[in-house]
Formats: sequence, C-alpha cells, structure tokens
Amino acid sequence: MSSALSRIARFVGRGADALAVTKISRTREPFRVLVATIISLRTKDEVTDVAAPRLLAVAPTPEAMARLPPARIARLIYPAGFYRTKALTLRAIARTLMRDHGGRVPDTLEGLLAFKGVGRKTANLVLTMGWGKPGICVDTHVHRISNRLGFVRTRTPDDTEQVLRRRLPSRWWIPINDVLVAFGRTHCGPLSPRCSTCPVGTVCAREGVTRSR
Ligand code: SF4
Repeated sequence: MSSALSRIARFVGRGADALAVTKISRTREPFRVLVATIISLRTKDEVTDVAAPRLLAVAPTPEAMARLPPARIARLIYPAGFYRTKALTLRAIARTLMRDHGGRVPDTLEGLLAFKGVGRKTANLVLTMGWGKPGICVDTHVHRISNRLGFVRTRTPDDTEQVLRRRLPSRWWIPINDVLVAFGRTHCGPLSPRCSTCPVGTVCAREGVTRSR
C-alpha cells in the first residue's frame, strides 16, 4: 500500500495544483478549514477557491459569521452548489460554536460530527488539515481508487475509511486524500482511467474497471 501511494504521490507531485481546501488549510486554522470544506461540497474547486476566501474575508471568526444574515452569506459564496442551504448551515454552526464551545472548533471526530451539516469527510478534513490530528478523509476519489487498487473491498466511503483506519500506515492518513484526489482528477477518473500510462499499473488489481485508456 505504501509503495503504491509513494509512486502515485511522485507521479502527481509538483505539477498538481493544491486543492482549494488544501490551500486554505495551510493556515492551520480549524474554522477556516471547516468553512472552506462545507463550501467545497458538490462544488467545483475553482468556485471554492474564490468563494471561501471571499466569505472568510468578511467573517473570519465564528463570532463574525454568527452575526451575518444567511442571505449575505449566500451572496458571498454564490455560485457554490446549494449555496442557500450552506449559508444556513454555516451560520447555524457559527452560532452553536459561540453558544456551546466558546467560539472554538472541536478537535475530536465525535465533537465535529455532532454539528448538523458536518459529515465524516468534513470532520476528518477539519481534524487533519485544521488540527493536524490523525484522521483519514475518504471522498469519492479515495473510495474509488482504494477499491480499484485492491487496498479495500467496500461499498461506501465510510466503510473504506474504517478499513483504511485498520490497515493504512499512519504516515499516509493525512496525505492520502490530497494524493488520490489529484490522481483521480488527472488519471484514475471514474469513467475511463488511463491505465496504459499509470505509475502503478503493474500492481493495480483494476477491480471493477471495465473500460480504460
Ligand atoms: Fe487507476 Fe488504472 Fe492506474 Fe489502476 S491501473 S490505479 S485503475 S489508472
């Protein structure tokens, strides 16, 4: 598992653009990561790239976010997918943070999952990117490629996360998301992966792959 991931990491390496949430997470501020991750759900990276900093410039703290009317938040994050619902979610989270947590984002999976609108993917990203704590963020790319490679045999991203938590060496817990998302976008896409030029073609089980290039 480690050697395949190392090869893929080198392959996507320097040419890969950092994902929008990754760029925000360089600040290591859990609230910024939480906000950017919620905006990024079902939204193109190019849109998150602009929308998240635009909102965070106006509302950089839970206190400021809790004071913004949802319609203003919606305007600031437009055209992110489901921008009106996300605006309500972001303000509700900010208010709960102020009311119950003294404005501090929780640093445990359970604490984060208690918020409405925060799923395992978001919670793991905040934990890993925001707090630098162990966690594995499994999205559709990590789930699909882990199964194709034969790392896991699972039906859902949540199941994949559980199996990876048992088998994946800890040094890969945080970077696996960035590496496989970049690889999934450029090479091992959902419909027709580019197996003929793949850096791990010789060791990949190609589980479930019916068509490739
Ligand atoms: Fe993906 Fe094909 Fe490479 Fe396997 S061989 S990781 S299916 S591109």
